[in-house]
Amino acid sequence: MRTVHHWIDGKSTPSTSGRTSPIYNPATGEIQAQVGLADIAEVDAAVASAKKAFTTWRSTSLSRRAEVMFKFRQIVDSRRDEIANLISIEHGKVPSDALGELARGIENVEFACGIAPMLKGGYSEQVSGGVDVYSIRQPLGVVAGITPFNFPAMVPMWMFANAIATGNTFILKPSEKDPSVSILLAEMLAEAGVPEGVFTVLHGDKVAVDRILDHPDIAAVSFVGSTPIAQYVYSTGTANGKRVQALGGAKNHMLVLPDADIDLAADSAVSAAYGSAGERCMAVSVVVAVGSVADPLVDAIAARLPKLVVGPGTDPNAEMGPLITGEHRDKVAGYLAKAGEQGATVVVDGRDSNVPAEGFFLGASLVDHTKPGMAVYDDEIFGPILSVTRVDTYDEGLALINSNQYGNGTAIFTRDGGAARQFQFDVQVGMVGINVPIPVPVAYYSFGGWKASLFGDQSIYGPAGVDFYTRSKVVTSRWPDPSTSSVDLGFPSTR
Ligand code: NAD
Repeated sequence: MRTVHHWIDGKSTPSTSGRTSPIYNPATGEIQAQVGLADIAEVDAAVASAKKAFTTWRSTSLSRRAEVMFKFRQIVDSRRDEIANLISIEHGKVPSDALGELARGIENVEFACGIAPMLKGGYSEQVSGGVDVYSIRQPLGVVAGITPFNFPAMVPMWMFANAIATGNTFILKPSEKDPSVSILLAEMLAEAGVPEGVFTVLHGDKVAVDRILDHPDIAAVSFVGSTPIAQYVYSTGTANGKRVQALGGAKNHMLVLPDADIDLAADSAVSAAYGSAGERCMAVSVVVAVGSVADPLVDAIAARLPKLVVGPGTDPNAEMGPLITGEHRDKVAGYLAKAGEQGATVVVDGRDSNVPAEGFFLGASLVDHTKPGMAVYDDEIFGPILSVTRVDTYDEGLALINSNQYGNGTAIFTRDGGAARQFQFDVQVGMVGINVPIPVPVAYYSFGGWKASLFGDQSIYGPAGVDFYTRSKVVTSRWPDPSTSSVDLGFPSTR
């Protein structure tokens, strides 16, 4: 059986721990490969390699670092289909979705190609007699990224493009569920000219993560995954003196006002709820229907579901693929049983729909009359179940969203610009869409939720990513004329 190895010192490196984890083909349910899981000694070896590479990499000129990013962008661009296919084979997402993830990942590489002007500091001349002050930004050292299964290419690109371009060396600990794409990206980075040790892939589970979190030579950790682990990574990493940004889970609400266009709202809700089988942190999982819009909107969404083509991610005609594991599919399906018991109405039950019998498939499901206190409403399900919560007023809908523990994304659908502006002003969520259901910011803004969706002060990628992976140094400088030198024990004054 194929085994996925680490990438250390610029080459494929088999694990020596003797521990492995299975990689399923979610479309068939079979185990298609395995991945070696790092032990502490393997993490230490990877960090030592990254630490050694840092000295040279941080001294490499900015133009050269940018050049490598340009070259990497070119290689990835010319092999999009190959990368997307590998994503589909291990993750299960359909080709259009895999290509979309890759395209949004590449935008982060393009952003990093322009790193040079972003590292410009400030300069103040003559802050005192003959004294100038300037600030510079320097890389942190060895930084690590721990990533989730649902975006095996894009989320690592959110991190490593800026981390490497700013002069750090980067250790990626990808999800053990679909780890192969990270190795393909490592090979492409090497081909682009990234020196050995600058980009490392270390496969592993909690053992590797815990060593990353307490390794004295790792300066910063970026994490994207579920909220409980994000919280753990943030508290453990910061207690160990590291800079940490830890992005967690979500329960994204889409507020639909009575004046909204029903077809537009229904198309958007279906696209955002069931794309990637709901395994997106920016998926819409609750439609909040205000007043009279509820009945026609539920009908319009329900009418669209039987038409969705569910199939393997390798089928170019499929619109929705399987879930990541059988265990996860069963957990998601369990919410449908519980929803009925807790008083909600299961309008479309994905367990009954016509999906492939093999593999981890579940049909698109719609649950109406959900409310806080029901598991289907409260929990992040991460599957193809869309809840509808009915409210009487905008204020009621807003209060519902603002009282949610998560604050990743949200959207409002309306034709009323004033209402949309008020929503943008009031809502306590990090990323807001106005008639846009999945408002993932472009690469030159930054991505980050509020509340239990992000632990730490810095959003990820874009300008915030550059700040996260660098620290500032302020230099006060004087080039005195020796003939004017004298001893002065007074506190330095500027006037
Ligand atoms: P996960 O939290 O299970 O795993 C994420 C990473 O943490 C993986 O690399 C995994 O190996 C590691 N990990 C898992 N358990 C661990 C433990 N006990 N100790 C230390 N490390 C551990 O998440 P997932 O299932 O891979 O991904 C889905 C989750 O990620 C969802 O909650 C989703 O909302 C979230 N997500 C968030 C964003 C965002 O930007 N906020 C983006 C994508 C996914």
